[in-house]
Amino acid sequence: MIYGNDAVLQLIQKMAEREHLPHACLIYGEKGTGRKTIADYLAMTALCTGEHAPCGNCPSCRKMRKGIHPDYIHVEHSGKKNGFSVETVRNVCRDAVIAPNDGSRKIYLFADCDNIDSRSQNTLLKLTEEPPEHVLLMFTAVQKNVFLDTMLSRMMLFAVRPCTAEECFQALTQEHECPPAEAERAVQVCGGNIGKCLDWLENEEMQELTRQTAMLTDAVSARRHYEVLRILAQFEKDRQKTAVLLEYFDIQLRDAIIMKYGQCDRMGCDKTSAERLSAVLTLSSFQRMHEAVRTAYNALQANVSVKLVLASLGGSLLS
Ligand SMILES: [Zn+2]
Repeated sequence: MIYGNDAVLQLIQKMAEREHLPHACLIYGEKGTGRKTIADYLAMTALCTGEHAPCGNCPSCRKMRKGIHPDYIHVEHSGKKNGFSVETVRNVCRDAVIAPNDGSRKIYLFADCDNIDSRSQNTLLKLTEEPPEHVLLMFTAVQKNVFLDTMLSRMMLFAVRPCTAEECFQALTQEHECPPAEAERAVQVCGGNIGKCLDWLENEEMQELTRQTAMLTDAVSARRHYEVLRILAQFEKDRQKTAVLLEYFDIQLRDAIIMKYGQCDRMGCDKTSAERLSAVLTLSSFQRMHEAVRTAYNALQANVSVKLVLASLGGSLLS
């Protein structure tokens, strides 16, 4: 079962019914929102030999489910910084003209194209413009603008979005067998991004950081000076964790100010403490704290001593 992104799936089904599947497409969106799942679904649909594609039962669908379909080719990352080298792309171009092994199509998946360079794209251009009838090229990326306009104009674009909190909760509890209480927490922190939720659930450090952010938020709301300084002091030895704490706390500020002036249905970090902060937050204190967090973040990036950054932040949060 695939959660969320119903519109994309329906579109794929409709195109399959009308035998109008694209020859090249880009599936783009935030990491963890199901780009790969949609790519697999499209591939399964395109290769299915059953009646209502993807039927899930024909020999082709069974091979897809086992991950052993010879005509679904995952192009390997190569070259610098995880891009696709010109050599790899040339091999794909040569291979693409050869007829499929089993099915009626040959499908190439270029996953995570976030660093694909223009040379590789130019090498792919001709194949994308005039692909052999049996070829389907699929690309995934966070943003579509990593591609040249000439490539984009030849591709069908599928925007993938996080699912709703409800869908995400269902996926976590049913598909991934998370206990409901944990799933609920994960959705509260990470929103409808299933991949992010799963990472968060597996990563105790991140969970601990969320708890500490909630404590910091409460201490700031209640203006418990000593407590604020005590929490911040725990981070003195860890630049990376401090950066995450700052990010989380900034999300708390954002949620608190949205709650104050409107409705906030997607919580970023810890809803309960953000609500308490919202009750005491003013527009000017929000601006002051947000600015202080940003300054601290920049100082961290500029290699200023973590201890100094935290001391200065503590002062600003309590001023
Ligand atoms: Zn099938």
